[in-house]
This record gives sequence, structure tokens and C-alpha cells, in this order.
Amino acid sequence: MMKTRRFFRTLMAILLLVACFTCSVDLPLMRRAEAAAAKTDAYIVTWDNRTIRAGKTFGWSDNGQTYTSPLTIYYSNADTMRVRLLNGRGKVVNGQDQSWNLSWASGSVSWSGSVPKGSDPGTYKVRVDLTSGKRTRTFNFNWKVTKYVHTALPTDSMQRKFNYLQYMLPQGKFWNHGVRGVTTIRLDNGMTTTISSSRCNAWSHKKENFRDRAATCNYANNGYQCHGFAMMLATYVWGSEPTNRSKVTDPSAADTLEPGDVVRFLKDKHTIFVLRVEKGTVYFADCNWGQTCRIRWNGKISAKKLKKTFSYVYKYSMR
Ligand SMILES: [Zn+2]
Repeated sequence: MMKTRRFFRTLMAILLLVACFTCSVDLPLMRRAEAAAAKTDAYIVTWDNRTIRAGKTFGWSDNGQTYTSPLTIYYSNADTMRVRLLNGRGKVVNGQDQSWNLSWASGSVSWSGSVPKGSDPGTYKVRVDLTSGKRTRTFNFNWKVTKYVHTALPTDSMQRKFNYLQYMLPQGKFWNHGVRGVTTIRLDNGMTTTISSSRCNAWSHKKENFRDRAATCNYANNGYQCHGFAMMLATYVWGSEPTNRSKVTDPSAADTLEPGDVVRFLKDKHTIFVLRVEKGTVYFADCNWGQTCRIRWNGKISAKKLKKTFSYVYKYSMR
């Protein structure tokens, strides 16, 4: 009798243990099941028959018009899909918001976007929302529009050149080489140069190490850093290299600066490229203000201040 009772007690203990064990493994098992389910609604996006991953730049377009190689999105077990094309500010490009009802099916959808004329060039975002039940998964891909597409605006040809140069040599990038993230830039007149996302080595920018500036700083038209940059912009806009023929050293020239002028000032230490002059303020592009070869398009200084340390100007009007 005692033996039987002990047997049942032991059996109960074992059963309880098993029950508890089941309890404790129940939740992770559910999670694993969920994870397995989530895997079934995975999808693949291809462009030009190549698989691309979210967050990657999948292509580029020269003219900012319709894509010639559309994205193909393969999905499984999804209810709806929505594809939107967003501009650089995160706004939906006019008319570029498409949805599909997939009815918990597997298959593929082809998408091609278009950027209307007059849009800014740059990186557009293709946002894919894939919904299964209550869950929506969002994936972003980048589409690069490389050519300046302001065909209607602006009408002024010099302003158009400024805009183009600003697009090709953007604010915040560095006019240098031999560092990380270097891109070769080919301008539409055949000129080539490089920009990067890394500042110049501060060491090579120090006065005593100045002879080593060639290691990372760029060179153009007989000048490194700010001078080479301003001369390069002028060469593109003028259609020829600025020469000594048009060098004006009289400081009063600071009062009559015009777009396209190359100004040397700060007692022969800095060079800027004039974009416009308004009410005594000179707006300019330059590089290396701050000694890292960083590119700026929003520089401004009063003509009065500029005159005080004026060295000379290459006049666009005397090109
Ligand atoms: Zn530099």
C-alpha cells in the first residue's frame, strides 16, 4: 500500500514537472512559430534581373523621366502592396503612389516610376509597404536621378550653370582626393575632377606642412584648395581659363563685382567665386573655408568688408 502511494506521488511529481516544463517552453515555441510565419511573407526585389537589398541604390536615370528597367517585386503570402516614390524631402512625387490587392497570394508586381520635368535631381526613395493581416513591413530603396532636369527654370544661362555646378559639386562635400569616399565627377563640358565625403588631413593643411597639400587637396588651373576650386568653377562658366589679362588689382573693383567673378582677398589668402551681388552683399561659392577643403555654396560677405583686404579680381565681363 505504502509502495503504491509512493509510486503515485512520484508519478504526480513527474507529471507536474513535465507540465511545468511544457509551460516554460511554450512561449519560445510560439515565438519560433511566429518567426517561421514571418519568413513566409518575405519578398525579393530585383532590378535589371539582379536582386537588391533594402536601403541600397538600385539604379539611376539620366533624364529624370520614366524608368527603362522597372523594379520587380516578388512576394509571398501578402494581402496588399503599396509602392510610393518620395523626393528628397520625403514627399510623394506627384501621382507616384500605387497600390495592389494581392489577396494572400504569391507572385510578382512590376513597378516603374517617373520623375516629372522640373524636378530636382538627386536621390529619390522608393517605399514599398507589404501588408499581411495587421502587419505592415516597409522597405526603402534609393533611385538616383543624375541629370539636372530643370529645363524650364531658370531661364538665365549663367544661373543654370551655377545650379548645375552646385548639383555636381554639392555643399558639404570635400574637393579633394586620396581620402575615403572619393567620387569622380565628369562635367558636361568634358572637365573632370573629384569630390569626397571625407575632410582633408588637417596635418597637410598646416602652414608648415603646406608642401604636402598635394597628398589630398585637389589642384586645378594653377591653384590648390580655394584658389583651384574658384578657378575651376570660373573655367566652366566662362568657357575658358581666367588669365592675367583680366586681373584687376584696384580695390574699388570690390564695389562692382558681378556673377562669375573670381575674387582673391584676405591679403592674398582666400579665393571665392561670385554667384550674385545684392545690396552691397556678395554671395559666393568657395572651398577650404575652415581648412578642410569643404565645399560651400552659401558664402556671403559685404563688399565693404571684402574691399578692406582685397587683392584682385578676374572679371567675367573681361573674359
Ligand atoms: Zn585639402
